[in-house]
Amino acid sequence: MTARLCAVFHCGSPAASDYSPYCRRHKSTLRRHGATGQRGIAKAELAPYLARVEARIAKNPDSEAWSLMEGTWTTIIAEANATANRRVGNRYERSAANEIAAIALDCTPGEVIRTVLAMVLFWHDQPRRFASDEALRVQIARRVRALSQRHVGLRYDHRTGQQVRVYREMTPKAAGILGRKLMIAFGAIGLHLAALDDRDRKAAQEAKQRLATAISQLS
Ligand SMILES: [Zn+2]
Repeated sequence: MTARLCAVFHCGSPAASDYSPYCRRHKSTLRRHGATGQRGIAKAELAPYLARVEARIAKNPDSEAWSLMEGTWTTIIAEANATANRRVGNRYERSAANEIAAIALDCTPGEVIRTVLAMVLFWHDQPRRFASDEALRVQIARRVRALSQRHVGLRYDHRTGQQVRVYREMTPKAAGILGRKLMIAFGAIGLHLAALDDRDRKAAQEAKQRLATAISQLS
């Protein structure tokens, strides 16, 4: 039993071990979400941002941007497959490469790209929802990985005699690496889409204001 308290302000729980600055709960949150104060981004929370990305794509169906981005993702997959097959090298890089290879088997490039762009819009609109840059990268990686079912396994429960679904967590390092790759590839494009949305919103407000002014001046 250690006499230290969790380093999170106002937590008050004992540290998980002599080597951990955090209690069990905060240690686990840090591992899963990239920061002790980070809550996971739920699919429903991301939905409005995904809709905005889809609207932008629908507005520009012939833009080469979408297929070029798919090409970027395809390159990331090819690099991941090469890394995953290498016997030597950084094990965290290999673990991230395995995650990418698994995601690629289940998801279309379009799904992955739309999810990353939607996460960047989310971050642009609600930066305080992300506890740190690392937490943002981890949340992006988690939302993209959730597109695939490969991390959901089945376990036999001897007590009930039934199969139960278990979620295999991504390692924190692999999540950080995957998130970083996705941000490098698509982060700037996501911020550009956010700026376009801001511009459109402002133009709509101005048009509304002009109409209100014009109506108030009717004789
Ligand atoms: Zn704590």
